[in-house]
Amino acid sequence: MHCYQCSNNAMYQVDERNIPLCLDCHFKFSQVQQQRLENNERMINYLSDEMSFTTGLPPMGPRFPPRPKSLVVAGTKLNNISVNNSVVGTINTGSLGTVDQSISALVQIGDPGLAEAIKGLSEAILQSGDLTRNQRNELVESLSVIAKEAASPKKVRQNSVALALIERASKITALADDIADVCQKWWPILQAAFSAATGG
Ligand SMILES: [Zn+2]
Repeated sequence: MHCYQCSNNAMYQVDERNIPLCLDCHFKFSQVQQQRLENNERMINYLSDEMSFTTGLPPMGPRFPPRPKSLVVAGTKLNNISVNNSVVGTINTGSLGTVDQSISALVQIGDPGLAEAIKGLSEAILQSGDLTRNQRNELVESLSVIAKEAASPKKVRQNSVALALIERASKITALADDIADVCQKWWPILQAAFSAATGG
């Protein structure tokens, strides 16, 4: 069975009409529902505040707690990368989770410069309007491999793999007008990290 929204295979059925949706489309659908729930919670909190204001009595009863700020992507909490909800459904969230975890690892092992470069690149890639959906996905996937290598001990880093991916990825971002400049600032930092290790 195909997704009602795109050409992927359906994995879920939603609504009383049992509309088939694929993983990505279902993810987007759930986010819209979450947003609606959150708005309702805010409205209920507001109404109870308004009631206590009107009656002059102190606020009574439980309130909905504020929602956690960091975004949860495919079961992974993103601690470093800020990403707009609207692009989340269109990217490989597993790869994005890997990038985010590698950034945490780099900060822990004391390489904040590399962590910052990878964070800067991922946020630029995620927000670019000039990249196609496929390009964005390819870049996030490449970045997840590069970030994982960067967070590995120097002795076991696969430098040539990382350098090849960086070269290809930097060519793609150079053609995306809205992020070309900012990415040009970050790629050389990664390149240097992997080149220094090979002594080249
Ligand atoms: Zn779909």
